[in-house]
Amino acid sequence: MPMILVPRHFFMNNHLAIEAALGAGKYAELLFAAGHKSAYAWCEREARTHGLNGVEVFEHYMRRLSQRGWGQFKVESVEPATGHARVSVTNSAFVLAHSGAPRKTCYMFRGWFPGALEFVGAQLGKRFALACEETQCAADGQHAVCVFEAMPRAADPGRVG
Ligand SMILES: [Zn+2]
Repeated sequence: MPMILVPRHFFMNNHLAIEAALGAGKYAELLFAAGHKSAYAWCEREARTHGLNGVEVFEHYMRRLSQRGWGQFKVESVEPATGHARVSVTNSAFVLAHSGAPRKTCYMFRGWFPGALEFVGAQLGKRFALACEETQCAADGQHAVCVFEAMPRAADPGRVG
């Protein structure tokens, strides 16, 4: 797969400039859709290349993200038939780059888990649409790791659609 490797500060300077221009809420919304699409396509292609099935694809994706500088991703739980999953992230690149007031910084990851898990579901013949939230973030000054939870959209009271 074609890759672009860049220094973390270069990526973060771009990220923070866009966040400042759009506002974190609007930016997070756009990133969810873009990240979801990219994760789904990545998993589809990697599954074909490596002959991976079901939850193996998700584990492979988490391992690759961990090897590529985004943080260390650990699958705490995953139900491939429903898309429910809980992932912890240690040393998130967004936490390491954060220098302002305590807040959740890692919203770029939010679309990645649903995109990957929806591909896993499709491989199993299941069609579902997932939401995802960062339920705790190490940049908020109160937690050591970030935690993301993916769930069916209807089960997430915080989201519409
Ligand atoms: Zn975080």
